[in-house]
Amino acid sequence: MEETEQEFLMSPKIIENYSLLQEIGVLRHIDQLNKELKKYQGLLFSAGEIFNCTTTDEIMDATVWQISDLYLPSFVAFIWKPFQNRDDVTIKSYQNYKFVDMHLNIENIIPLESFFRMNQEPVPYDRLKEALKENSEAGLILESLDRLIPELVIPILGPKGLYGVILVGKKMLAEKYTTSELLFLRQLMSFVSQAIQNHLHYEHSVRDVKTGLYNHGFFSTRFGEEVSRIKRTEYTSSLIVIDVDKFKNFNDNYGHLAGDKVLEYIARTIRQNVRNDDVPSRFGGEEFTILLPNTDKEIAWNVAERLRTSISSMVVPWDPPLPQATISLGITSFNKENMASPDEIIHRADEALYQSKENGRNRTTFWQGGFLFRIESMPADL
Ligand code: GH3
Ligand code: MG
Ligand code: MG
Repeated sequence: MEETEQEFLMSPKIIENYSLLQEIGVLRHIDQLNKELKKYQGLLFSAGEIFNCTTTDEIMDATVWQISDLYLPSFVAFIWKPFQNRDDVTIKSYQNYKFVDMHLNIENIIPLESFFRMNQEPVPYDRLKEALKENSEAGLILESLDRLIPELVIPILGPKGLYGVILVGKKMLAEKYTTSELLFLRQLMSFVSQAIQNHLHYEHSVRDVKTGLYNHGFFSTRFGEEVSRIKRTEYTSSLIVIDVDKFKNFNDNYGHLAGDKVLEYIARTIRQNVRNDDVPSRFGGEEFTILLPNTDKEIAWNVAERLRTSISSMVVPWDPPLPQATISLGITSFNKENMASPDEIIHRADEALYQSKENGRNRTTFWQGGFLFRIESMPADL
């Protein structure tokens, strides 16, 4: 049987030699080792929590809780590239456990990239500043960071270079981080960085780069699963398919980049109009789908109409100003009673969409029971 620490310390030989052990520092050493052990148990626990998160947001929240509990830093900020092949960054910053917008004016992290390729580990902010003092582009980033007074800058690195950085502020209670705290923070952050990196890789594999919506592959898999699931339940789910009206005109009259901008804004409006559980995807080209799990036809209809009207009043900034974009929609709902194959369900929604186009575009049509049950909406003013 394994001897517990308590039994060990209480054993007669130890008691006999207690003064000697204390004098030569053995007991203090044991105490120190115990503290170290607790610290690493804590680190493993934190790593477990962080690797169990299912979204980047959850990872960030969990990280902020962990390090705020330990050190209460003045702030923690995550700056990362949501898409590998785009340079723009997303910023999420926290103060006192809570998400706060710290108005960081950082558009990309390219100027930090070469430094972190050479130094693949957390660095004190002062060292980063010193290393980049001749770099004028980095100067703009540092200017924005200076007022926060970060203590540490931790890179999130992956096969494609720098994905992001995590900034950790000084301790609120004025004390400096001890060497061992900094070491702990670095170790914890290397797990965080790894976890974020894993999620970014996953996200990149299921997202469409241009719009940030789910890609066709992810939609097909999720839709197949949903159809199978619905067969075994009493629920109804719905599918909305969307096609941009006369989209070719944007490309032909204003150029491909204007067309891309319209797609980006439509995707953004779609995202703003769906719930977390819905699956908005880019089906291909200027066609989108939204899978709405556990949603009956009335609710799906309301979502579709809310989306259609939002888009028909959406402003896409462009010079010269672009004509109003509109979309046509087709909806079908499916449950145990009217079940079909995933392809057949998509075909039904497509048929309804075709009717919307036939009837003048900028409208929604619902497919029902083998015939088209059309509920026409008021077309927006064109
Ligand atoms: P309708 O109202 O009948 O849908 O008319 P439409 O012009 O939207 O239909 P059509 O299918 O003829 O045109 C779709 C165009 O979308 C053709 C294609 O070049 C363009 N397109 C597809 N993907 C993209 C993209 O990623 N960016 C841009 N700018 N255009 C794209
Ligand atoms: Mg089309
Ligand atoms: Mg179209």
